[in-house]
Amino acid sequence: MRLILFGPPGAGKGTQAKLLAKHHGLRHLSTGDMLRAAVRNESPVGKEAKGHMDAGELVPDDVVNRIVAETLAEIGYDDFILDGYPRTVDQAEFLVEALSDQDAPINAVVSLRVPEEHIVQRLSRRRTDRETGAIYHLDFNPPPADVTAERLLHRSDDEPEAIRTRLEEYHAKTQPLEAFFRAHVRFLDVDGLGSLDEVQARIDEALRGPGL
Ligand code: ADP
Ligand code: ADP
Repeated sequence: MRLILFGPPGAGKGTQAKLLAKHHGLRHLSTGDMLRAAVRNESPVGKEAKGHMDAGELVPDDVVNRIVAETLAEIGYDDFILDGYPRTVDQAEFLVEALSDQDAPINAVVSLRVPEEHIVQRLSRRRTDRETGAIYHLDFNPPPADVTAERLLHRSDDEPEAIRTRLEEYHAKTQPLEAFFRAHVRFLDVDGLGSLDEVQARIDEALRGPGL
């Protein structure tokens, strides 16, 4: 199965992608995680991406398209869930073409709907485990007692100013993708409000449709 998780920053894409990956045996491909690893390793991609990411801006399409193309080739173009990609119409066109060359079309786009007033609340209290990559929320999905405070990362782009820029970028460049997806791919609308388990159950239900 080849899936895309779509939605605004903080919608719960990473959280649900990890659950889907585990339950359906898919690779979780997060361009945010790939880019953060590149920044940590100070690779050429990381050097190009860092300033954009800190500011909350999108990284240029050609940089992101290249790392996605390399990763898809490595894993053989199947059994994956893309999280945080594509984020522009250019990226979507690139992806659709790369996959159609391999006769491996996307089966569905799962779109997580979360109203904006919940987004800031979710992002500002998000914490990530540096060792395992697990995603927590201090109120809604708190880390277990054995995860020490030093292990918990508060992302620098989860500060109010970067959050504002990320939302502007989302509205200007990513939201228009919905029309592109609806025209080209099976598009599944899922309500992203409620507990993690409730959202997961809704996604599983939506994926039970014919042809998936
Ligand atoms: P979010 O919580 O906003 O979904 P991500 O971890 O997916 O965060 O992305 C973090 C940052 O990495 C983005 O703000 C952007 O700078 C960069 N990034 C990730 N994916 C892409 C992409 N597909 N295109 C451009 N930039 C990206
Ligand atoms: P994205 O990848 O779309 O940016 P994340 O999965 O990182 O989103 O989730 C953003 C924050 O919201 C995290 O702190 C996460 O624990 C929290 N979160 C995820 N799903 C829910 C939910 N259903 N209800 C409340 N908080 C959630």
